[in-house]
Amino acid sequence: KLHNTILELKGNIRVFCRVRPFLPDDGVNTDGKLISYPTSIEALGRGIDIVQGGQKHSFTFDKVFMPDATQDDVFVEISQLVQSALDGYKVCIFAYGQTGSGKTYTMMGRPGHPEQKGLIPHSLEQIFQTRQSLQPQGWRYEMQVSMLEIYNETIRDLLSTNRSSSTENGASAKQYSIKHDANGNTHVSDLTIVDVRSAKEVSFLLDQAAQSRSVGKTQMNEQSSRSHFVFTLRIFGVNESTEQQVQGVLNLIDLAGSERLSKSGSTGDRLKETQAINKSLSSLSDVIFALAKKEDHIPFRNSKLTYLLQPCLGGDSKTLMFVNISPEPSSVGESLCSLRFAARVN
Ligand code: ADP
Ligand code: MG
Repeated sequence: KLHNTILELKGNIRVFCRVRPFLPDDGVNTDGKLISYPTSIEALGRGIDIVQGGQKHSFTFDKVFMPDATQDDVFVEISQLVQSALDGYKVCIFAYGQTGSGKTYTMMGRPGHPEQKGLIPHSLEQIFQTRQSLQPQGWRYEMQVSMLEIYNETIRDLLSTNRSSSTENGASAKQYSIKHDANGNTHVSDLTIVDVRSAKEVSFLLDQAAQSRSVGKTQMNEQSSRSHFVFTLRIFGVNESTEQQVQGVLNLIDLAGSERLSKSGSTGDRLKETQAINKSLSSLSDVIFALAKKEDHIPFRNSKLTYLLQPCLGGDSKTLMFVNISPEPSSVGESLCSLRFAARVN
């Protein structure tokens, strides 16, 4: 569109796979032989083999990051995509995978280790730097941030300062309604939207959101892995000399854990959670698959997540899915499921 390189995408959907390293807590002494690069030259950097029960399964993605890949190695591959939000594109980047596979590490980084910052803080640093560098060419940008959580098909505003609007179990007293206008903008009623002028301001808001997530956690078992976290940056740019205008959106989404939870074993709240997660993750897969196949009907309305992101998933928007994989032998079953999910959307 404007002042940046256009990404060469095959379609507008890409899938990156990332395998996290072994952690001391994994408690296994293994070099991860169950997961490996395929040996063929053409699959290098794009293929992944995984062995289950003596059988080898091979997958190919747009990119595969093995455990030695650093946060910077990953960011290099997505920085253009992030940049395109400044050119007026609508961008979604998802992290998909079982709990403990590295989704939050990929998105946020490691708490207390700024050198391992994830793609949310890194993207914001880049965006504000670029904003500065485009000033001499007449570009002025305004940025707005919102952060929400979708839990049991219910939206929670993570930047709301009005605590009474959230009940203790994380369910909101408010029913946030989602509307899309003719310009492809999404409006969530009553959602807090904050004007931001620096990456530092956003980082402050991220801390606030993290606290707000944990408020509802007291009675909820690891709620953060049972809900989707949606970070949205809206970008409004105008060129003071040419009067060109751009509007871009960057959505960065840390999805709920994809582990298969047995329906038979869960009851009450847990069953409801399980059903809500299964429903929204399968809706997401259905939507991305339908978009990739250019089908006439895209089932956006089947879940809150896909309906919320509708304008940012279709059209000339750009989508990237990280599928995060855990290297432990005990996770091979879940890893295969995640790879199959991602291979479907690829
Ligand atoms: P998830 O969000 O999918 O549940 P996390 O991102 O919390 O998983 O990762 C689980 C643990 O593994 C965390 O302690 C995290 O810091 C660590 N971890 C994940 N990916 C990496 C990585 N690539 N390098 C180092 N540590 C990682
Ligand atoms: Mg997480």
